[in-house]
Amino acid sequence: MLVILLGPPGAGKGTQAERIVEDHALAYVSTGDILRAAVKEQSSLGKKAKQYMDQGQLVPDELVVAIVKDRLADPEYAKGALLDGFPRTVTQAEFLDQALPEVGLNIDRVLSIEVKEDELVERLTGRRVCSDCGANYHIKFKPPKVRNVCDLCGGDLYQRDDDTLETVKERLAVYKKQTEPLIRFYMDKNLLSAIDGNQDIDDVNKQINDI
Ligand code: ADP
Ligand code: AMP
Repeated sequence: MLVILLGPPGAGKGTQAERIVEDHALAYVSTGDILRAAVKEQSSLGKKAKQYMDQGQLVPDELVVAIVKDRLADPEYAKGALLDGFPRTVTQAEFLDQALPEVGLNIDRVLSIEVKEDELVERLTGRRVCSDCGANYHIKFKPPKVRNVCDLCGGDLYQRDDDTLETVKERLAVYKKQTEPLIRFYMDKNLLSAIDGNQDIDDVNKQINDI
């Protein structure tokens, strides 16, 4: 099975992905997580990607496509995967259409999580992430039991560099221009299911599981 999570930054893709991969035993591919790990390691990919990420821009297609190619070549991922944050441009989607048959996969569903823009800004600026295990929190909507401490592993929580108000606004504009066209792209292929992401986390999860 191959499922794609589509939606603007802050829609709740990572939050839902944590549950989906557990409930449905899918390998998880988040290009954002992979790129952040590369930045932390200061690898050559990380050095190239950082300048784009810091400005809220998309990393060039060829770099991101290479990451996904690498993952799909791994038999663990080829058994079934959840893609979060990829594809983000029509070029990336076309690459996927070409690459999937080679590994015996096809797209089963594209879940498009839709959330109002002012809510997205509040979600992103209040997001906190565990520096050890990557678990996701929100200062108001999903606070940890102890302030700034991860419930799951005790790690420190931090705010992503690109979750500042200025960068958030840029990321939302980039989404509208470069990623939103994918809604039509997958609708035309009868693969799209719209999810009302304005509900609370459990209700969004229920809609996804029903699909
Ligand atoms: P994305 O991966 O789409 O960028 P996240 O899953 O990281 O989004 O969610 C962004 C922020 O919003 C996080 O702080 C998360 O805890 C919070 N969040 C996610 N889903 C909901 C929801 N349904 N209601 C309220 N807050 C949410
Ligand atoms: P995310 O964690 O999905 O919010 O992604 C964080 C940042 O990583 C984005 O703002 C982009 O700079 C970069 N990124 C993640 N996925 C992609 C992608 N598929 N294409 C281009 N850039 C990406």
